Amino acid sequence: MTDNRPYTGNLSDLQVVVLMGGLGTRLKEYTAACPKSLVDVDGHPFFDYELRLLKEAGFRKFLFLIGYKADMIEEYYGDGKDQGITITYCYDGEELLGTGGAIKRALDLLEEDFLVTYGDSFMDIDYEETVYRYFAGKAAGYRALMTILKNNNSFDKSNVIAKDGKIVLYDKMNVVPEMEYIDYGVCVYERSLFEEYSGDRRFDVAIIQNELSKKGKLAAHEVTRRFYEIGSPKALSEFKDYVNKRFNTKNRAVFLDRDGVINEIVYNEDTEQLDSPQKKEEFRLLPNVFEALKIFKDKGYLIFIVTNQPGAAKGKSRLSALYDINTAFVNAAKDEGIDIEGVYMCPHYPKMQPYTKETFLIKECDCRKPKPGLIMRAVKKYNIDTASSYMIGDSISDILAGKAAGTKTVFIGDLKCDACKKLCDKEPDLTAADILRAAEAVE
Ligand SMILES: [Mg+2]
Repeated sequence: MTDNRPYTGNLSDLQVVVLMGGLGTRLKEYTAACPKSLVDVDGHPFFDYELRLLKEAGFRKFLFLIGYKADMIEEYYGDGKDQGITITYCYDGEELLGTGGAIKRALDLLEEDFLVTYGDSFMDIDYEETVYRYFAGKAAGYRALMTILKNNNSFDKSNVIAKDGKIVLYDKMNVVPEMEYIDYGVCVYERSLFEEYSGDRRFDVAIIQNELSKKGKLAAHEVTRRFYEIGSPKALSEFKDYVNKRFNTKNRAVFLDRDGVINEIVYNEDTEQLDSPQKKEEFRLLPNVFEALKIFKDKGYLIFIVTNQPGAAKGKSRLSALYDINTAFVNAAKDEGIDIEGVYMCPHYPKMQPYTKETFLIKECDCRKPKPGLIMRAVKKYNIDTASSYMIGDSISDILAGKAAGTKTVFIGDLKCDACKKLCDKEPDLTAADILRAAEAVE
């Protein structure tokens, strides 16, 4: 990338600003004694769950914007050292500043670029993708990024028109029927936007977002999972149920390789070789995939995709195009009533190639299969019992990754002799002709 701070792929460099000043008036019975971020959820303050996500993503630098019962938050989280992070604080002061006003008040503490999230929301998204898209957008002249969710008025009124990685219009005051998306709550900004803002001391950050969208300077990251917040007793109880299911119960999962299992391998005219799809137009589902996914779901498995996609590292595609493929697939599954819990993609490649543009993707990582890193990421996040879970794939590296992670394994296709030799004593537990047969075969 060509901006003055090249994207490194390392999220520890980026400051995270957390809006925590709210009064929590709709949650009165809980927030009389403590701020919303500290409301108890199963023995832990609410924000601990979100902070865990942010730390797992790799963020290390935090700025908490606090107001209501601020001292309790500072006392609980301290400087963050014991958690391996740094936390600084900015007090809202006596007057109510609104989201934009609270950020502007912290101007002296803000870094050149920063991500903003809320202290009363649990937002489990691919933050690597968020940050990548922000810096890719910045290099192309965008000044901020907004995460959005295809909503169709289901959670709240949709308020965003977006197309091809760009917010065409964000306006929560004047909604129009063309609005399919809702703003999700995570944004990334240039500090200069707040330096330049000359309106009232008290303002909603939506004013800046709206203006940027009209100028075509607001990039988009489409996320695919719902968020949780604790703005009302009903929402709090929903989150408690979710925490119980996700963190306090051992879950079992299927980890599905993508290419050759979910979708067809395609003929790449540039390289004259069979290859993974490099853009969403090339992505074609294999037969019976949704039927198979429904069987996994009915049998009680969480569904994850774990996929090596070195196309951008090799210069055949752009990382954004590879992300787009996964987003389109997860949305298509959602339309069929199937939740894909996560797509874990390794975009890396160990050696620089002649056409490599996104050089930060070149590295020896711990996620490229046959290494088990992608699977282990999900195991850690979802309390997964590997012994009762399956890795399902059509290549040796899938089977080896599953074995290394401690899952059972299913090989899709014919296990030819040369493959047998390479697997040695690591043969799969099952072989199946396709994903549907695999779904029927697992316990
Ligand atoms: Mg494959």
